[in-house]
Amino acid sequence: MTDNLEFFERAAHVTPGGVNSPVRAFGSVGGTPRFMVSGNGPYVTDADGNTYVDLVGSWGPMILGHRHPAVIAAVEDQLANGMSFGAPHPNEVLLAEEIVRRVDAVDEVRLVSSGTEATMSAIRLARGFTGRNKIVKFDGCYHGHSDSLLVAAGSGVATLGLPDSPGVTPGTAADTITIPYNDTQALTQVFAQVGDEIAAVITEASAANMGVVPPAPGFNKLIADTCHKHGALMILDEVMTGFRVGPAGWYGLEAKPEGWAPDLIAFGKVVGGGLPVAAFGGRTEVMDQLAPAGPVYQAGTLSGNPVATASGLATLTYCTDEVYDTLNRQSRAIAEAVSAEFDKAGIAHQTQVAGNLFSFFFTETPVTNFTEAKRQATEPYGAFFHSMLDQGVSLPPSVFESWFVSAAHDDSALNKVIEALPTASQAAAQASQ
Ligand SMILES: *Cc1c(COP(=O)(O)O)cnc(C)c1O
Repeated sequence: MTDNLEFFERAAHVTPGGVNSPVRAFGSVGGTPRFMVSGNGPYVTDADGNTYVDLVGSWGPMILGHRHPAVIAAVEDQLANGMSFGAPHPNEVLLAEEIVRRVDAVDEVRLVSSGTEATMSAIRLARGFTGRNKIVKFDGCYHGHSDSLLVAAGSGVATLGLPDSPGVTPGTAADTITIPYNDTQALTQVFAQVGDEIAAVITEASAANMGVVPPAPGFNKLIADTCHKHGALMILDEVMTGFRVGPAGWYGLEAKPEGWAPDLIAFGKVVGGGLPVAAFGGRTEVMDQLAPAGPVYQAGTLSGNPVATASGLATLTYCTDEVYDTLNRQSRAIAEAVSAEFDKAGIAHQTQVAGNLFSFFFTETPVTNFTEAKRQATEPYGAFFHSMLDQGVSLPPSVFESWFVSAAHDDSALNKVIEALPTASQAAAQASQ
């Protein structure tokens, strides 16, 4: 038995489904997950000693690649001085200053430990600030697993949301209105019906958790304008896009040039560089409603942890313009190579791109929302995924996830990906017949 298999069997005895986050279980592609035991630059190595080009990147945080020397050094420096004090630490100030420096719409940030916490707390703050209860989210956008955000679409606009998981109460779901992504009419209609009860609209800066589905031109701005017209806040969830698609995230790509601003922004993933750091921020007037400055309670034993913030700060410090140029170039090269090979194999697909995030849909027409995303053929991806894995390329184990490139993905790593594509595309073509 391989070590991967043995660990997975043992894990299943002591952990639900053998994993600590569902997508890792390979549920949608089948087979045994690989237990990754080390990483170096663009590569990861599993418990059996197989090395892969890593296109998961811990789902985004490893933007500089694994074991970037400056990040490791910063973490080791802090480790040598202790891990956690439950008192303020200079690293927290430095990281907050770096976020504020990069993102004009953010005057103040609160550091937390996961993206889930960031969006959950941003919603509480929006409710506290506006004195309103309802929030609007878009079907297929993922904002972490807090109760009020695990809500599926009801049957019509402004009908009650439905719990998207057992354990979420109908009462909680009732305060979340879920509408289709990129649907300007639904947005306008929901505000016409209950606009004065809506505390906030939360949206992924670009949807990328149903596969990559970019916002239609003007859609994000319409959200901002509509919120502001009705006294609601716009929460831009940049947990995935933040500091990845550019130095100031999606805000810097779209909002700033177009001259609009969200009220609150949630960050995660890259902002911790591989350790648990996330954050939410906005203008002072809103942020100062948070305890201890204001009445909205929010706290965390490990919030702003010195080691984690050292990792985040070093990561952001090394995310230079050159890093973003490399990321953009290498992401485009991979996306184009995959698409070309799918074409050769006669596989109908869409290459969908948002900044340097990309994913593929096995469908004839571009995907603009979750209903369309779910209509794609899912068989080709499992076959493609496993062929790539066998050839030493680790892809996200679900067709509904973005691919993550790092600045360490040099041409040698890229060539390994490209060389694996013909065989994997043939496997995908066979699976789709
Ligand atoms: C990953 C993600 C989250 C949740 O972050 P966790 O750290 O996993 O809790 C929230 N929003 C978006 C857009 C994400 O991609």
